[in-house]
Amino acid sequence: MKSMPNVFGPGSRLGIVGGGQLARMIALSAAELAISSHIFTPEPHCPAGDVAAQVTQAEYDDEVALAAFADSVDIITYEFENVPAKTAALLASRRPLHPNSDALETTQDRLLEKEFIAGLNLPVASFHAIDTIEDLSHGVQILGSPCILKTRRFGYDGKGQIKIEANDGLNRAFDEMSGAPAILEAYIPFTREISVVAARNAVGEFCAFDICENVHRDHILQFTYVPANIQNKTAEIAISAARKIADALQYVGVIAVEMFVTSDGSGERIIINEIAPRVHNSAHWTIDGANTSQFQQHVRAICGLPLGSVARRGTIEMENIVGDATQRWLDFLGEPNTHLHLYGKRETRPGRKMGHVTRVR
Ligand code: ADP
Ligand code: MG
Repeated sequence: MKSMPNVFGPGSRLGIVGGGQLARMIALSAAELAISSHIFTPEPHCPAGDVAAQVTQAEYDDEVALAAFADSVDIITYEFENVPAKTAALLASRRPLHPNSDALETTQDRLLEKEFIAGLNLPVASFHAIDTIEDLSHGVQILGSPCILKTRRFGYDGKGQIKIEANDGLNRAFDEMSGAPAILEAYIPFTREISVVAARNAVGEFCAFDICENVHRDHILQFTYVPANIQNKTAEIAISAARKIADALQYVGVIAVEMFVTSDGSGERIIINEIAPRVHNSAHWTIDGANTSQFQQHVRAICGLPLGSVARRGTIEMENIVGDATQRWLDFLGEPNTHLHLYGKRETRPGRKMGHVTRVR
């Protein structure tokens, strides 16, 4: 029997590293449980700052500020996987940090992540580590084309990746990486993209939301539909793969596992794309469309509180509001069954996620 974890209930203080929309929605959910949030971010005017009890604006290597932040809270989480290892270690030495630094390290680096997933005997695209142009030409020979070259670290929304087609010159693709360590992946001709978003708590209980089907535009998530249009058997396999990953990481909190679904004569197959050690855009629908939102579920899991019901309240469409689309906010307010969430970003930029709407029918 594992011992029960510490319990942080109403009146507790939660530290959140990062101040974007994910931190904002975690802080809002924490506040529902009378848990107040302290945000640590280098950004001025961050979306989470508007809804948190306290904000520290400092760099991630400012050890004095990090120590003061840690000492001011009971427990710490983060909204993004690129928290520097040293920052995470300093925080974890002073307060419980969830998810743990193993989860961070594994998911910060696409090569370590793929090796970890393959090591669990779960399916991933064939891959090849790329440090030199010779590695690249060898990799393309082995994996065939098309294939995708990605930086190992710091990629998001398709940034830091380039697709290589047959007959493409390799120098240009290699130069795109600007010397950063990279990984080459076989191109997966998927029929759908899905994500499993789930919570695991400190005693190993695991609870997945219904699977999300995700449609990207220009590499940015545009729509999520729930339920995903996949076979029940495929959904079961996807959820058990996510559970295996969470168990192996001794994970505490909400985790998202992005997957490709392929189908041919012999049926559907899943291939795991990447792991996000945090709440995830594809489960924003849970705020309005599930009995417990992913944000409250995350707070419950890390605070040692009982996990909530993930029952769905209808058929879901979530649409991201990207860039100029934010001008449609008044239209969204006029749509029935539509829930508008704006993130309070002061500057609109092309490709920037400004908010989302969830339609529940
Ligand atoms: P990130 O979300 O961190 O930018 P991903 O690895 O998830 O990076 O890639 C972004 C998108 O690019 C995926 O959602 C998918 O649509 C496409 N993609 C990535 N890798 C592959 C692949 N191996 N085969 C086919 N499509 C891919
Ligand atoms: Mg992705």
